[in-house]
Order: sequence, then C-alpha cells, then structure tokens
Amino acid sequence: MKQKEKTIEELNEEFNGLTRKRMQLIVDLDKTTKELVEVAEKVYEKSPDYVKVTCPQCNGATIIDSEEGKKVKCPTCYPKGYLWMKRFKESIKEDGN
Ligand SMILES: [Zn+2]
Repeated sequence: MKQKEKTIEELNEEFNGLTRKRMQLIVDLDKTTKELVEVAEKVYEKSPDYVKVTCPQCNGATIIDSEEGKKVKCPTCYPKGYLWMKRFKESIKEDGN
C-alpha cells in the first residue's frame, strides 16, 4: 500500500522536529565529550604508566606563531600546555611501578 503524501505542514513539522532532535544530540555530544575528557584526565593522573610533560610545540604557552606570523592555539595541546605521555616499559620496571 502506498502511503498518503504528507502535506507541507506535516513536512515542516517533521523537519522542525528533526532539527530540534539534531541540535539536542549535538548539545549532548558536547556535554559527554567534556565529561569524557575530565575522566580521562583523572585516569592519567592515577595511572603509573603515564607522565605529564610540558608541550614540546608551545613550551606550555598553549599559543604558537603560525607561518603567517599570527598567534594561534597550539594544535598539539591547547588549552592545557601539557601532554600525557606513556612511560617506557623499561623505566616502569626501574622505578618499581
Ligand atoms: Zn602546546
């Protein structure tokens, strides 16, 4: 059976509903990503396998000079100024961790 074609009002309503749903999903995704980053930070802090190091690209400043001479956000670490690095297995053994 062929479905009855939707009216312009029905299509507009469906379009607006999907737009609202999409916007809410984007908001939820941003919120979940923020929470994930916060938890990941705690995991790294508690893990003996990771060490916090100053970002080698911006030296912790979080801003670098672009090729055009403009100040731009460090693509490696922004906005933290540091990176979590995994220790070498050998040094973990030496440290007794
Ligand atoms: Zn950096």
